[in-house]
Parts: sequence; C-alpha cells; structure tokens
Amino acid sequence: MQSQLRSINLTELETLLKSWSFPTYRARQILNWLHQKHITEFGEMKNLPKKLLGKLSESSLVSVLKLRETPKSNDQSSQKYLFETQDGHFLESVLIVQGGRNTVCVSTQLGCKMKCSFCASGMGKFVRNLTAGEIIEQVSRVARTLSPLEVGNGRDRSLQAITNVVFMGMGEPLDNYDATLRAIKILMADWGFGLGGRRITVSTCGIIPKIEQFVKDVDGRVRLSISLHSSQQTVRNELVPINKRYNLDDLMSALEQLYRKLKREITFEYTLIQGMNNSPEAASGLARLANRIHAKVNIIPYNPVREADYQSPTPAQVKTFCALLEKKGVRVTVRQTAGRDINAACGQLRLDREPIRGTSGPKLICSIKFNLPPIP
Ligand code: SF4
Repeated sequence: MQSQLRSINLTELETLLKSWSFPTYRARQILNWLHQKHITEFGEMKNLPKKLLGKLSESSLVSVLKLRETPKSNDQSSQKYLFETQDGHFLESVLIVQGGRNTVCVSTQLGCKMKCSFCASGMGKFVRNLTAGEIIEQVSRVARTLSPLEVGNGRDRSLQAITNVVFMGMGEPLDNYDATLRAIKILMADWGFGLGGRRITVSTCGIIPKIEQFVKDVDGRVRLSISLHSSQQTVRNELVPINKRYNLDDLMSALEQLYRKLKREITFEYTLIQGMNNSPEAASGLARLANRIHAKVNIIPYNPVREADYQSPTPAQVKTFCALLEKKGVRVTVRQTAGRDINAACGQLRLDREPIRGTSGPKLICSIKFNLPPIP
C-alpha cells in the first residue's frame, strides 16, 4: 500500500532515502515542496532526480484529497473547502481572513463520537479518524489557493500565507490523538510549515487524560481551547455528554494543575443558547471558573442547526451576558458570525447535504462547529 508522504517527518524521510541510497539532504528539499510550496503532484518537484521521483511515486502519494467545492461568503471573509477523501467521504476546512490573518480551521475526524447536542458534527455517524496527512493536506490545499504556485519562474515561491491553524472543524482532535499530534509537529517544524505554537489552537471538549498528555507532548506551546458551554454539571451533561465521564469539577482541577505549565492562556469556548445557559447565574458560574485559571472566554452566539431544538440569543442578550462577565473581571470576546451565506460557519453545510440520522443520501460531510475560530 502507498503511504501518505505528507504524514512523514524529517527523520523518517531521511531513513527512507538512505535505504534507497539517496543523499539525506534530499529529504529537506522534498518536505519544502510539500509544506512550503504546497505541491500536489510529484512532477512539480523540479529539483529532484527522476530516479528519486520514480521511487517516491511508486511507494507514496502526495495528495489524497480531491477539492470539490470552494464557496466564498458574500463578504469574502471566509471560504469553505469541501474535500473528498480517497474512500469517498467528505470533509470541510474553512479559511477565515480577518485582521491581517489567514486562519485555516481543519477537521480531524469524519464525524465525531462526542455527540454534543448543539453540534452538527456530533449528529452524524462516526466514520473514521483522519490521518495526519489528510489533516496537513487541508492546510496545504488552502494555502495553495491563496498563493498559486508558479513553477519555474525563478522567484522565491515559499508560501507564508497561512498565519494560523485552528483544530476546530469536525471531530474531537484529542480523540484522534496520534494523527493530531503528528500534524501539529509538522506544522511547527522548521522543515514543515514553521508555524509557532501560539499560531496553533487545539479545541477539546475535555478528555482530561488526553489534555494532560497533550500539554506534555507539545511542551505547553500550543494554544488550548476548552469547549465549556456551561458552568453547571447538569446543563453541561446535556450539551457536552463527555461531561458525564470527565465532569466539570475534575476538568477544572486538571486545568488548574496545567495552566501554569502552559506557555499560552487557556480559552473557554461558550456557545450561548437562549434559555439554556444565558442566565445571570450562568454568567456568574462561568466567571468563577474562568477566574480560577485566568481563562479568556469566547462567546459564540448559537447558530441554529435544524435538527437541534435550541434558540439563538438576541444581540441584546449576548451583550448583557458579556457585560456580566466583564463586570467580574473576565476577558471576553464575541465571535462574530461569518460566512452564514455559505454555511461556512457552523455545521450547516452538512445538514444541507445529508439526512443526519437516516441511511440514504450522500456520505458524511463535515461540519464546522462554531461561527469563527478564535483568532489570537
Ligand atoms: S462540539 Fe466538537 S466534540 Fe462536540 S460533537 Fe461537535 S465536533 Fe465533536
């Protein structure tokens, strides 16, 4: 079976080249074509000997995703990338252009086992984990469309267009731990994308042992975002069912231990749902939790999903809730809805494409769960 070249790290590639009797310096050249110039075919690697290209193409694949659609929002601030995998499933990535930053929101799984009640990703069938190569390719393919590769024109063709990557698309990144970690290491490596950890955010619903392991494995350098959504056990049990296994008290104790080891602040994601978690008591509870670990709070006004029976808050309700938090000393941002017209925002594209709990219709299509990823 052919391996995915984008999943491979520098040491593994050097070992492979040595075993083929090619000089190891070729490894950095190959990785530069993949992660800086974002090529999609072996033929684009212009400075490699034909014999090496032949060996590589026999044993590996450069590209495993087919780009199917790229709808843009009317205001041009976000663009959705719908990809088809080799086994015929669909996933989405989103590009958000805002404040001089080009942020790519990537998916890590086809479906999600966590079944958060307000999230379209959790409503469909879980299919499988994405590979590190499939995660990385999402970033490369988006980058490629930002700065089209002009092969052979003699200019410096390094692409630095992607400034931030957020793991907030379909799937729970820490439930696909190895591939997520491998992808992050490739994003951060000097032979990879060369992105600093502060430009990478991983969002998790709170799998405590995996969070602890992750902070250790990335040496606290990557931004952590916790999908909190409620400060009350019973409400969180409904919104984020993993809370029944890793409850709020335990999560907060773990975060208290961890936040000093983190080199970045923690963010709480809080989807604000009318009548569910927007009361003054809910605001006080949230402020108490945030202040325990100096977390920033990202308020995400709920974006309706047809199959979920929740209500969006009004702008006035959002304002009131934020004011209550601020009064208690919490730093708050409100994520503006972007790309609603292309369903780039919040898990709705999938709902437009497939019957969620039925068996007919197209295969799974990813959804992006929130309005906009947090842009640090
Ligand atoms: S919010 Fe995240 S963890 Fe929960 S179902 Fe959606 S994708 Fe999965």
